[in-house]
Amino acid sequence: MRQSDLFTKTTKTISAEEKSVNASLLIRAGFVDKLAAGIYTFLPLGLRVLNKIENIIREEINEAGGQEILMPALHPKENWQKTGRWESFDALFKLKGGDKKEYALGATHEEILVPLAKKHISSYKDLPRYIYQIQTKFRDEVRAKSGLLRGRQFLMKDLYSFHADEKDLNSYYEKIKDAYWKIFERAGIKDKTYLTLASGGTFSKYSHEFQTVTSAGEDTIYICEKCRLAVNKEILKDENPVYPVRNRISNGVCPECQNEKFKVEKAIEVGNIFKLGAKYSAPFGLKFIDNAGKERAVIMGCYGIGLDRLMGTVVETNNDENGIIWPKSIAPYQAHLLLLAPQEREIREKADLIYNTLLKSDIEVLYDDRNLSAGIKLKDSDLIGIPLRLVISGKTRENIEVKERKRKEAKLLGLGEVIEMITNG
Ligand code: ATP
Ligand code: MG
Repeated sequence: MRQSDLFTKTTKTISAEEKSVNASLLIRAGFVDKLAAGIYTFLPLGLRVLNKIENIIREEINEAGGQEILMPALHPKENWQKTGRWESFDALFKLKGGDKKEYALGATHEEILVPLAKKHISSYKDLPRYIYQIQTKFRDEVRAKSGLLRGRQFLMKDLYSFHADEKDLNSYYEKIKDAYWKIFERAGIKDKTYLTLASGGTFSKYSHEFQTVTSAGEDTIYICEKCRLAVNKEILKDENPVYPVRNRISNGVCPECQNEKFKVEKAIEVGNIFKLGAKYSAPFGLKFIDNAGKERAVIMGCYGIGLDRLMGTVVETNNDENGIIWPKSIAPYQAHLLLLAPQEREIREKADLIYNTLLKSDIEVLYDDRNLSAGIKLKDSDLIGIPLRLVISGKTRENIEVKERKRKEAKLLGLGEVIEMITNG
């Protein structure tokens, strides 16, 4: 992509109200535009990142047996009344249609998927099933001031599993834990992410959150320095008689490995997995006939990851005073080619040739061919944060000055070496 054709420009001026680091950087660099608190447009650069995150998630969930569908965002009130959540789900957006009927904007999809599953699951032969979507959710968040970390409209991968019994749910739950670790590893945040005990397990002792440590986080977690298990401070409000976490934490002992060293950190929940049991299958009467001919309730699990939140989290945890530092796996482009002497015909021709050769080698490259000063281009490049910068100037002659965004030092390489370096990762 030639930057002279790019729809967006970087900007220095951004509203003083914008306190969040991820939103400031993403808006300034031209990845997203803020329409209102918690409502964002994804611009060409931002959409490329979001699509890469989506692909990573889709690959790993497909690998774990997921079957993808796409459910509507507009939900009839009756579905939400069935589970009692029309009243109890605080952040539910509600609206009236011209037909005088009431609707909700989907905040989650148990209320839609469970009655749908009833049309296709009736026997033990129909189980297990793993159904997911990557789709827009709406939540009337009052605290929408953390940029992409807390949207009022956001993308979620929500997966729901259907099982004949608890044992089958338990083994799938572990499989999804592994899939989540792969997703967070590929997105570049695994090292800072902790499996965290949290409330909300209606069927099990706890639910599990994947919490990434960042000062922008809204949760407080206790992290065991030995076994890496973390505990969300909020769960500590009520003691669990089966697995007494509060007691042990307040005595300074890890509930899992009995180690006595903890760190307390701010963190953001990037994913959450739950064992639901029959919580949603019961109100909709989702049952199956087991292999002994007996009717039983279908047992469920649900598993969410916020895509925009993941993107915001990566920015919060990968930046410096000059801008974003994207991990290779989700960067909008693999390389940022900068032509620093655009008026000099010979140098421009050389840069054009390099650009075309990179494209032919299937390398995703953003080419700053604009008639702007070297200072502006270098600053913009740091702000946008593509992992590899390739500079062509009067000084580089037959070579290319190559610098990784995360390093200070640059080196001169030939085009062949650059292509090899990028394609071999
Ligand atoms: P939080 O406690 O942060 O409000 P939650 O526990 O209500 O989140 P879940 O219902 O567990 O969220 O949703 C599953 C996932 O969706 C979360 O782990 C998170 O990644 C993402 N998510 C939830 N709410 C938002 C939001 N307002 N903006 C962006 N992502 C969100
Ligand atoms: Mg949650």
